[in-house]
Amino acid sequence: MLTTRRVFLHHSLSIASVVGANGLLGSAQAKEKAMARTTGPVIVSTWPFGKASNDEALRILTQGGSGLDAVEKGIWVTENDLSNSSVGAGGMPNAKGVVQLDACIMSGPGHKAGSVAAIEGIRHPISAARRVMEKTKHVMLVGSGAREFALKEGLETAEMPTEARRREWLQWKSKQENADGKNHDTIALILLAPDGHFYGGCSTSGWAYKLSGRVGDSPIIGGGLYVDDQVGAAGATGLGENVMRYCGSFQVVSFMQRGATPTEACLETVKAIARKDPKGSDLSINFIAVDKKGRYGAAGSAQGFSYSVTTPKFSRVETARAVTAKELGPIGGNRL
Ligand code: ASP
Repeated sequence: MLTTRRVFLHHSLSIASVVGANGLLGSAQAKEKAMARTTGPVIVSTWPFGKASNDEALRILTQGGSGLDAVEKGIWVTENDLSNSSVGAGGMPNAKGVVQLDACIMSGPGHKAGSVAAIEGIRHPISAARRVMEKTKHVMLVGSGAREFALKEGLETAEMPTEARRREWLQWKSKQENADGKNHDTIALILLAPDGHFYGGCSTSGWAYKLSGRVGDSPIIGGGLYVDDQVGAAGATGLGENVMRYCGSFQVVSFMQRGATPTEACLETVKAIARKDPKGSDLSINFIAVDKKGRYGAAGSAQGFSYSVTTPKFSRVETARAVTAKELGPIGGNRL
């Protein structure tokens, strides 16, 4: 009983601190209000490399394409970039030298989702995820079953790892290093379409030199991506183990549902996770979000996260707000 009350109190405080606050978060809210959408789509994706994907997504929407086409074909741009070591065929392999890719997609209308995990040799895992959503009764396919399905759907295969990644992996293997979890990124792309609906997708090769079969947050609905057509969309990048245990993207959308702006929702999610996680500020987690008003925002557990935003008026990379040590409190959190 006591525990329940404490959790409830803590929860209420945390919400009170994000809604209508006049402090630090208040200014973030004001900035976002100023950027409120009047017309047109808002496309947000993780990292500077997401900008090329955003631009393609905008091109598709501008030509009258669907929100799902914009997400899928936008993400194709990053999946096609072999210089990108964390997405698609250019991605880093696992400890056995095999590239295993994760992806998911969500449609606000109908609250539909599709996902593939640890899929091998398929050039566009985002398309496999979309086919799972549109052509099966399931949400998620993994491993060899996911590959078989993709092949049956006629999806393109690709050689992976690339020669460069194979050489890096051989070097890593010869040194018998541990996979330190420092090498990874994801494209998470979320958008508010001109028709007022939300769509999103994620694609990654995950944690470099991970254990064979390891699946991160990116293909987990509510972890690496979440879309609620009544509220908004959120996506994640960073150490998946520190996102999926907390339903990270779902939390961001929930904060927005309770009145937080996108930036506030991302910050509050990082803080909520940090409070529970013994690793404190060393979480390596980052979120992006967009809401019904077309406001967008992002936050990370440390400095260094940047993300791409594209509307008909501009396409640019912005620096995410990092949660400060003061906001996080003592490392290791409050340990309820
Ligand atoms: N979240 C991805 C994973 O853990 C990696 C990343 O976004 O950095 O697989």
